[in-house]
Amino acid sequence: MTAKIIDGKAIAEEMEHEMRAEVEELKAAGIRPGLAVVLVGDDAASKVYVGRKHKACERLGITSFDYTLPEETTEEELLALIAELNARQDVHGILVQLPLPRHIDSKKVLISLDRTKDVDGFHPVNVGCLLIDESPLPPCTPSGIMEMLKRTGVELTGARAVVVGRSNIVGKPVAIMLLRENATVTICHSRTRDLAEVCRSADVLVAAVGKAEMIKGDWIKPGAVVIDVGMNRLPDGKLVGDVEFAAAAERASAITPVPGGVGPMTITMLMKNTICAARNAARNREILCGDSCAYVSPAPGDR
Ligand code: NDP
Repeated sequence: MTAKIIDGKAIAEEMEHEMRAEVEELKAAGIRPGLAVVLVGDDAASKVYVGRKHKACERLGITSFDYTLPEETTEEELLALIAELNARQDVHGILVQLPLPRHIDSKKVLISLDRTKDVDGFHPVNVGCLLIDESPLPPCTPSGIMEMLKRTGVELTGARAVVVGRSNIVGKPVAIMLLRENATVTICHSRTRDLAEVCRSADVLVAAVGKAEMIKGDWIKPGAVVIDVGMNRLPDGKLVGDVEFAAAAERASAITPVPGGVGPMTITMLMKNTICAARNAARNREILCGDSCAYVSPAPGDR
């Protein structure tokens, strides 16, 4: 069997096309979605990611506010900036690029975000909402994976899904989302016994480990759908996933490539969350009416 390639770049472009229309509609109602991106320090990879986020905003007509702060920024200064962004009506989404420098407590920073602007979906209350099926602003990589599965027509009800990796940003939330779609979900991690055998039982396999080509081709059940989240740089500079792609593609029915699979979807879902947050803010201020996003309005004073 040679697998169908799930083209994340094409799906992301299709979604951007849809979102551009949504942004136009909001602008016609006097709302221009705005995303503030806060970067503290000089981490090279973070700078690249932040640059991509600003470019995506530009393509879609979303205003991006760039806050690049020096490494020595104190926690108090960062919290003061967040308080200011929380209060601004032209900022609908706030993203604090992680990791933060070690002298800043990330948890304290994330909890200080107005959760209606938490477009990364990392605020503890939003994480809790995901567990009770009310995901207001779902985390971007997991929701990108779900969107890819949906747009590829993968039937999840009753499917056996195996997620390898249990991080807070990918493994755990994607497992919850698969469960919500009625898959029977197993979560694996570094202490899982007989990982190969567990993977062989998967109709849908999500690999989010961060170890180059760790999941071997013969661990894939014939006909399975494989989502490879991993992004690993080999010594020769080549970017590969967590799955041995060529061998896995011989057995799977569909598989995401690396690069060009999950990666492009993450930023697309960030844009979707920003638009959703702008729409909901306008609804709350009664500028717009009707439903759009899954967001449930918070009680007054509840952040
Ligand atoms: P983390 O390092 O936070 O988590 C890795 C998980 O893999 C942990 O739960 C760990 O288990 C598990 N693990 C490690 N070794 C093994 C093993 N031998 N067998 C089974 N499980 C193992 O990573 P992230 O979730 O943040 O990221 C995973 C990968 O996805 C990375 O390559 C990252 O770059 C990529 N990524 C890609 C994104 C995209 O947009 N495409 C976005 C986010 C991440 P334990 O908990 O027991 O330690």
